[in-house]
Amino acid sequence: MFRRIVVLFVLSLIAVPQFSFAATSGDKPITSGITSSPAPRIQTPTPTPVPPTPAKPQPIKFALTFDDGPSPNYTPQVLALLDKFGAQATFFMVGTNFTQYPRLLQQVAAKGNEIAAHSMTHPDPDYLSNSELDYEITASVAGLREISDQPVRYFRPPYGQRNYIYKKRAPELDVEIVYWTVDPRDWSGISSDIIAERVLDNLEPGCIVLLHDGGGNRQETVDALEIILREANARGYNSVTLSNLEI
Ligand SMILES: [Zn+2]
Repeated sequence: MFRRIVVLFVLSLIAVPQFSFAATSGDKPITSGITSSPAPRIQTPTPTPVPPTPAKPQPIKFALTFDDGPSPNYTPQVLALLDKFGAQATFFMVGTNFTQYPRLLQQVAAKGNEIAAHSMTHPDPDYLSNSELDYEITASVAGLREISDQPVRYFRPPYGQRNYIYKKRAPELDVEIVYWTVDPRDWSGISSDIIAERVLDNLEPGCIVLLHDGGGNRQETVDALEIILREANARGYNSVTLSNLEI
C-alpha cells in the first residue's frame, strides 16, 4: 500500500506542468515564441499622392452670327447643329421674316441663342429717306422685343452700311451697332468647303463670324457650319452669343 502511494506521489510530480517549475525558478517564463515576440508591425502603405484633377480648360470664345433669317428651310438645321456641338449664336433677323415666322424666332430664342435686329425689309440705305431708315431700325428692334421677349441689344445694318440715321437712333433705342470681323462671303455661291476654310483660317479669340440662314439658298452655309463647329471644337473654341462674348 505504501509503495503504491509513493508511486502515485512520484507520478503526480511528473505530471506537474513544466511551466510551474519555470515560474518559480527565477528564470524567464517559458512562453510560446509566438506570443513573446513583439507584435509584428503592420506596414501601413504610404498613400500614393493623388495628383489634382487638372481643371478643364475654358473654351476660347468666338461668335457665330446669322443674318437675314429666320428661314423655315435653314434656321432649324442651324439650330440642330448648334445643339449638336453645344454652341450658341446670334441671329440678326429681318422683319419681313420674323413677322411671318414668329414661332421660329421663339425656337431660336428658346435654345439660348440671341435675337438681334437687321431691319424690317433689308433695304439698300442709299435709296431710303431718313424717316424710312429710322423706321427700319426702330420697328425691327421694337418688333423683336415684342415677339421674342428678349432684351434685344444689337442692330446690324443691311449690307453693313455705315449710316448716320442708324448711328444716331441706336443709342436712343438702347441697341449697339455690330458688324463682324470674319466674312467668308457665304452668299456668293461658293462651296461649303470654301466657306468653312475661310472661317477657320481666320478663327481667333473673340472673332465675330458673319453667316446667313436666310435670303436665298443657304444649304452650303449649313453644310459649312458642321465643318466649322467640329474644327473649332477641336481647337478648343466654342461659339457663344454676342452678349456672352466678353472680348
Ligand atoms: Zn443682311
